Amino acid sequence: MSIEKFSLEKVLSVHRWTDNLFSFTMTRPAHFKFTAGQFARIGIKVNDELVVRAYSVVSSPFDETLEFFSIVVPDGAFTSNLQHLQVNDEIYLEKIPYGYLTLARYQLPLPKDLWLLGTGTGLAPFLSMLQDFETWSKYKNIHLIYSVRTQAELAYAEKIQEIIETFGEGHHGFKFIPIITRDVQAPLHDRLPVLIANGELEKVADLKFDPETSHIMLCGNPQMVEDTKEALKARGLTMNRRGEGNIAVENYW
Ligand code: NAP
Repeated sequence: MSIEKFSLEKVLSVHRWTDNLFSFTMTRPAHFKFTAGQFARIGIKVNDELVVRAYSVVSSPFDETLEFFSIVVPDGAFTSNLQHLQVNDEIYLEKIPYGYLTLARYQLPLPKDLWLLGTGTGLAPFLSMLQDFETWSKYKNIHLIYSVRTQAELAYAEKIQEIIETFGEGHHGFKFIPIITRDVQAPLHDRLPVLIANGELEKVADLKFDPETSHIMLCGNPQMVEDTKEALKARGLTMNRRGEGNIAVENYW
Protein backbone atom coordinates (compact mmCIF):
# COMPACT_ATOMS: atom_id res chain seq x y z
CA MET A 1 0.00 0.00 0.00
CA SER A 2 1.61 3.22 -1.15
CA ILE A 3 1.47 5.82 1.60
CA GLU A 4 1.45 8.65 -1.01
CA LYS A 5 -2.14 7.75 -1.82
CA PHE A 6 -3.14 8.89 1.69
CA SER A 7 -3.33 12.16 3.57
CA LEU A 8 -2.71 12.27 7.29
CA GLU A 9 -5.76 13.52 9.21
CA LYS A 10 -6.67 14.09 12.83
CA VAL A 11 -9.43 12.54 14.94
CA LEU A 12 -11.79 15.27 16.18
CA SER A 13 -14.32 13.28 18.24
CA VAL A 14 -15.27 9.75 19.24
CA HIS A 15 -18.76 8.65 20.31
CA ARG A 16 -19.38 5.24 21.80
CA TRP A 17 -22.91 3.86 21.29
CA THR A 18 -22.40 0.42 22.86
CA ASP A 19 -19.40 -1.78 23.72
CA ASN A 20 -19.15 -2.80 20.05
CA LEU A 21 -20.41 0.26 18.16
CA PHE A 22 -18.80 3.68 17.89
CA SER A 23 -18.60 6.70 15.60
CA PHE A 24 -15.76 9.13 15.03
CA THR A 25 -15.14 12.33 13.15
CA MET A 26 -11.91 13.49 11.54
CA THR A 27 -10.56 16.45 9.63
CA ARG A 28 -11.52 16.60 5.96
CA PRO A 29 -8.85 17.73 3.52
CA ALA A 30 -10.02 20.18 0.81
CA HIS A 31 -9.16 17.69 -1.95
CA PHE A 32 -11.48 14.96 -0.58
CA LYS A 33 -14.70 15.32 -2.58
CA PHE A 34 -17.35 12.58 -2.48
CA THR A 35 -20.98 11.90 -3.38
CA ALA A 36 -23.44 10.83 -0.66
CA GLY A 37 -23.36 7.03 -0.42
CA GLN A 38 -19.67 6.63 -1.27
CA PHE A 39 -17.02 5.14 1.00
CA ALA A 40 -13.56 6.21 2.07
CA ARG A 41 -10.55 4.03 2.74
CA ILE A 42 -9.15 4.68 6.18
CA GLY A 43 -5.80 3.53 7.48
CA ILE A 44 -4.16 3.13 10.87
CA LYS A 45 -0.66 2.00 11.70
CA VAL A 46 -0.60 -1.42 13.41
CA ASN A 47 2.94 -2.51 14.38
CA ASP A 48 4.30 0.05 11.90
CA GLU A 49 2.26 -1.34 9.05
CA LEU A 50 -0.57 0.58 7.40
CA VAL A 51 -3.83 -1.40 7.73
CA VAL A 52 -6.71 -0.08 5.62
CA ARG A 53 -10.47 -0.65 5.63
CA ALA A 54 -13.41 0.81 3.71
CA TYR A 55 -15.97 2.92 5.55
CA SER A 56 -19.06 4.64 4.13
CA VAL A 57 -19.14 8.32 4.97
CA VAL A 58 -21.92 9.26 7.42
CA SER A 59 -21.55 13.02 7.02
CA SER A 60 -22.94 15.07 4.18
CA PRO A 61 -20.82 15.96 1.14
CA PHE A 62 -21.12 19.59 2.34
CA ASP A 63 -19.76 19.05 5.88
CA GLU A 64 -16.36 20.38 6.86
CA THR A 65 -15.48 17.18 8.71
CA LEU A 66 -15.87 13.46 7.94
CA GLU A 67 -17.86 11.08 10.14
CA PHE A 68 -17.78 7.26 10.18
CA PHE A 69 -19.73 4.52 12.03
CA SER A 70 -17.92 1.34 13.03
CA ILE A 71 -18.45 -2.00 14.70
CA VAL A 72 -15.70 -3.65 16.75
CA VAL A 73 -14.95 -6.98 15.10
CA PRO A 74 -13.68 -9.30 17.87
CA ASP A 75 -9.96 -9.98 17.23
CA GLY A 76 -10.15 -7.97 13.99
CA ALA A 77 -6.75 -6.46 13.14
CA PHE A 78 -8.29 -3.13 12.22
CA THR A 79 -11.30 -2.40 14.43
CA SER A 80 -9.83 -3.82 17.63
CA ASN A 81 -7.15 -1.12 17.26
CA LEU A 82 -9.47 1.51 15.84
CA GLN A 83 -11.82 1.26 18.83
CA HIS A 84 -9.12 2.85 21.02
CA LEU A 85 -9.06 6.01 18.91
CA GLN A 86 -8.79 9.23 20.84
CA VAL A 87 -9.23 12.86 19.98
CA ASN A 88 -6.10 14.25 18.25
CA ASP A 89 -4.89 10.82 17.15
CA GLU A 90 -3.57 10.67 13.60
CA ILE A 91 -5.41 8.64 10.99
CA TYR A 92 -4.81 8.05 7.28
CA LEU A 93 -7.39 8.81 4.60
CA GLU A 94 -7.02 7.67 0.99
CA LYS A 95 -7.26 10.75 -1.21
CA ILE A 96 -10.10 9.52 -3.43
CA PRO A 97 -13.53 8.10 -2.50
CA TYR A 98 -15.05 4.90 -3.90
CA GLY A 99 -18.38 3.23 -4.54
CA TYR A 100 -21.52 3.28 -6.63
CA LEU A 101 -24.24 3.19 -3.98
CA THR A 102 -25.28 6.69 -5.02
CA LEU A 103 -28.60 8.08 -6.20
CA ALA A 104 -26.98 9.25 -9.44
CA ARG A 105 -26.82 5.62 -10.59
CA TYR A 106 -30.60 5.57 -11.18
CA GLN A 107 -31.88 6.62 -14.59
CA LEU A 108 -35.00 4.46 -14.93
CA PRO A 109 -37.47 4.30 -13.36
CA LEU A 110 -37.54 8.04 -12.72
CA PRO A 111 -37.20 8.98 -9.03
CA LYS A 112 -40.41 8.78 -7.03
CA ASP A 113 -40.17 6.32 -4.09
CA LEU A 114 -36.86 5.81 -2.31
CA TRP A 115 -36.46 2.84 0.02
CA LEU A 116 -33.27 2.80 2.11
CA LEU A 117 -32.86 -0.58 3.82
CA GLY A 118 -29.90 -0.93 6.17
CA THR A 119 -28.71 -3.25 8.92
CA GLY A 120 -26.25 -2.29 11.66
CA THR A 121 -23.44 0.00 10.50
CA GLY A 122 -24.88 -0.29 6.97
CA LEU A 123 -27.00 2.72 7.97
CA ALA A 124 -24.02 5.02 7.27
CA PRO A 125 -24.41 5.82 3.54
CA PHE A 126 -28.11 6.56 4.02
CA LEU A 127 -27.38 9.18 6.69
CA SER A 128 -25.15 10.93 4.19
CA MET A 129 -27.85 10.84 1.48
CA LEU A 130 -30.46 12.21 3.88
CA GLN A 131 -28.19 15.17 4.67
CA ASP A 132 -28.20 16.20 1.04
CA PHE A 133 -31.13 18.47 0.04
CA GLU A 134 -31.05 17.01 -3.46
CA THR A 135 -32.35 13.67 -2.11
CA TRP A 136 -35.37 15.38 -0.56
CA SER A 137 -36.15 17.38 -3.68
CA LYS A 138 -35.91 14.33 -5.99
CA TYR A 139 -38.25 11.89 -4.21
CA LYS A 140 -41.94 12.06 -3.30
CA ASN A 141 -41.59 9.28 -0.70
CA ILE A 142 -38.48 8.38 1.28
CA HIS A 143 -38.51 5.43 3.65
CA LEU A 144 -35.58 4.66 5.91
CA ILE A 145 -35.71 1.12 7.28
CA TYR A 146 -33.08 0.30 9.87
CA SER A 147 -32.73 -3.21 11.29
CA VAL A 148 -30.68 -3.84 14.43
CA ARG A 149 -30.52 -6.63 16.95
CA THR A 150 -31.37 -4.69 20.11
CA GLN A 151 -32.77 -1.28 21.07
CA ALA A 152 -29.32 -0.29 22.42
CA GLU A 153 -27.85 -0.85 18.94
CA LEU A 154 -30.30 1.60 17.36
CA ALA A 155 -27.57 4.21 16.97
CA TYR A 156 -28.29 7.62 15.44
CA ALA A 157 -32.04 7.55 16.33
CA GLU A 158 -31.88 11.16 17.63
CA LYS A 159 -29.71 12.28 14.75
CA ILE A 160 -32.30 10.86 12.31
CA GLN A 161 -34.99 13.04 13.94
CA GLU A 162 -32.69 16.08 13.66
CA ILE A 163 -32.02 15.31 10.00
CA ILE A 164 -35.76 15.07 9.29
CA GLU A 165 -36.35 18.44 10.97
CA THR A 166 -33.48 20.16 9.17
CA PHE A 167 -33.47 18.59 5.73
CA GLY A 168 -37.00 17.19 5.47
CA GLU A 169 -38.89 20.31 6.53
CA GLY A 170 -42.00 20.62 4.39
CA HIS A 171 -41.52 17.12 2.94
CA HIS A 172 -44.51 14.92 3.75
CA GLY A 173 -43.42 11.56 2.37
CA PHE A 174 -40.72 10.52 4.87
CA LYS A 175 -41.00 7.54 7.22
CA PHE A 176 -38.42 6.12 9.61
CA ILE A 177 -39.13 2.44 10.30
CA PRO A 178 -36.89 0.74 12.88
CA ILE A 179 -36.81 -3.06 13.17
CA ILE A 180 -35.47 -4.62 16.39
CA THR A 181 -35.02 -8.26 15.59
CA ARG A 182 -34.19 -9.62 19.04
CA ASP A 183 -36.99 -7.87 20.89
CA VAL A 184 -40.35 -9.55 20.45
CA GLN A 185 -42.02 -6.53 22.07
CA ALA A 186 -40.80 -4.25 19.25
CA PRO A 187 -43.55 -3.27 16.79
CA LEU A 188 -41.43 -4.77 13.96
CA HIS A 189 -39.06 -7.60 14.86
CA ASP A 190 -38.89 -9.99 11.91
CA ARG A 191 -36.01 -9.94 9.44
CA LEU A 192 -36.35 -7.84 6.29
CA PRO A 193 -36.98 -10.70 3.81
CA VAL A 194 -39.82 -11.98 6.00
CA LEU A 195 -41.36 -8.51 6.33
CA ILE A 196 -41.18 -8.08 2.56
CA ALA A 197 -42.63 -11.50 1.74
CA ASN A 198 -45.56 -11.19 4.17
CA GLY A 199 -46.35 -7.60 3.16
CA GLU A 200 -45.86 -6.22 6.68
CA LEU A 201 -43.21 -3.68 5.65
CA GLU A 202 -45.39 -2.22 2.92
CA LYS A 203 -48.29 -2.07 5.37
CA VAL A 204 -46.28 -0.08 7.92
CA ALA A 205 -44.82 2.11 5.18
CA ASP A 206 -48.25 2.55 3.61
CA LEU A 207 -46.58 2.17 0.24
CA LYS A 208 -46.15 -0.71 -2.23
CA PHE A 209 -42.93 -1.86 -3.83
CA ASP A 210 -43.47 -1.08 -7.50
CA PRO A 211 -41.12 -1.81 -10.44
CA GLU A 212 -42.34 1.46 -12.05
CA THR A 213 -41.59 3.78 -9.11
CA SER A 214 -39.24 2.16 -6.56
CA HIS A 215 -35.55 2.85 -6.04
CA ILE A 216 -34.42 0.39 -3.34
CA MET A 217 -30.98 0.49 -1.72
CA LEU A 218 -29.66 -2.28 0.54
CA CYS A 219 -26.61 -1.95 2.75
CA GLY A 220 -25.24 -4.05 5.60
CA ASN A 221 -24.91 -7.71 6.51
CA PRO A 222 -23.99 -9.58 3.28
CA GLN A 223 -26.48 -12.37 3.98
CA MET A 224 -29.23 -9.80 4.58
CA VAL A 225 -28.35 -8.17 1.25
CA GLU A 226 -28.55 -11.53 -0.52
CA ASP A 227 -31.79 -12.68 1.12
CA THR A 228 -33.52 -9.31 0.77
CA LYS A 229 -32.52 -9.06 -2.88
CA GLU A 230 -34.19 -12.42 -3.51
CA ALA A 231 -37.34 -11.40 -1.61
CA LEU A 232 -37.58 -8.23 -3.74
CA LYS A 233 -36.93 -10.08 -6.99
CA ALA A 234 -39.77 -12.44 -6.09
CA ARG A 235 -41.96 -9.32 -6.04
CA GLY A 236 -40.95 -8.41 -9.61
CA LEU A 237 -38.28 -5.83 -8.76
CA THR A 238 -35.03 -5.91 -10.71
CA MET A 239 -31.35 -5.22 -10.03
CA ASN A 240 -30.18 -1.82 -11.22
CA ARG A 241 -27.71 -2.30 -14.06
CA ARG A 242 -26.37 0.43 -16.32
CA GLY A 243 -28.84 2.86 -14.78
CA GLU A 244 -31.98 0.76 -15.19
CA GLY A 245 -33.78 -1.21 -12.51
CA ASN A 246 -34.85 -0.91 -8.90
CA ILE A 247 -32.30 -2.50 -6.56
CA ALA A 248 -28.80 -1.25 -5.70
CA VAL A 249 -26.69 -2.96 -3.04
CA GLU A 250 -23.55 -2.68 -0.95
CA ASN A 251 -22.18 -5.43 1.27
CA TYR A 252 -20.73 -4.00 4.41
CA TRP A 253 -18.06 -6.54 5.09
P1 NAP B 1 -25.88 -8.19 12.32
O1 NAP B 1 -25.73 -9.57 12.83
O2 NAP B 1 -25.54 -7.90 10.93
O3 NAP B 1 -27.39 -7.74 12.61
C1 NAP B 1 -27.90 -6.47 12.27
C2 NAP B 1 -29.31 -6.68 11.80
O4 NAP B 1 -29.29 -7.44 10.59
C3 NAP B 1 -30.14 -7.48 12.79
O5 NAP B 1 -31.42 -6.94 12.83
C4 NAP B 1 -30.11 -8.87 12.20
O6 NAP B 1 -31.18 -9.69 12.54
C5 NAP B 1 -30.17 -8.53 10.74
N1 NAP B 1 -29.78 -9.66 9.89
C6 NAP B 1 -28.72 -10.49 10.02
N2 NAP B 1 -28.72 -11.41 9.03
C7 NAP B 1 -29.81 -11.16 8.28
C8 NAP B 1 -30.37 -11.77 7.13
N3 NAP B 1 -29.80 -12.82 6.54
N4 NAP B 1 -31.51 -11.25 6.62
C9 NAP B 1 -32.09 -10.19 7.19
N5 NAP B 1 -31.63 -9.57 8.30
C10 NAP B 1 -30.50 -10.05 8.82
O7 NAP B 1 -25.23 -7.22 13.37
P2 NAP B 1 -24.01 -6.25 13.26
O8 NAP B 1 -23.90 -5.74 14.64
O9 NAP B 1 -24.14 -5.28 12.14
O10 NAP B 1 -22.84 -7.24 12.89
C11 NAP B 1 -22.60 -8.37 13.71
C12 NAP B 1 -21.55 -9.30 13.22
O11 NAP B 1 -21.03 -8.98 11.93
C13 NAP B 1 -20.43 -9.27 14.15
O12 NAP B 1 -20.07 -10.57 14.40
C14 NAP B 1 -19.37 -8.51 13.42
O13 NAP B 1 -18.10 -8.95 13.78
C15 NAP B 1 -19.65 -8.78 11.98
N6 NAP B 1 -19.27 -7.61 11.17
C16 NAP B 1 -18.07 -7.62 10.55
C17 NAP B 1 -17.62 -6.52 9.87
C18 NAP B 1 -16.29 -6.52 9.20
O14 NAP B 1 -15.84 -5.48 8.72
N7 NAP B 1 -15.61 -7.63 9.14
C19 NAP B 1 -18.42 -5.38 9.76
C20 NAP B 1 -19.62 -5.40 10.40
C21 NAP B 1 -20.05 -6.53 11.10
P3 NAP B 1 -31.01 -10.91 13.61
O15 NAP B 1 -31.05 -10.29 14.96
O16 NAP B 1 -32.21 -11.76 13.33
O17 NAP B 1 -29.73 -11.63 13.33
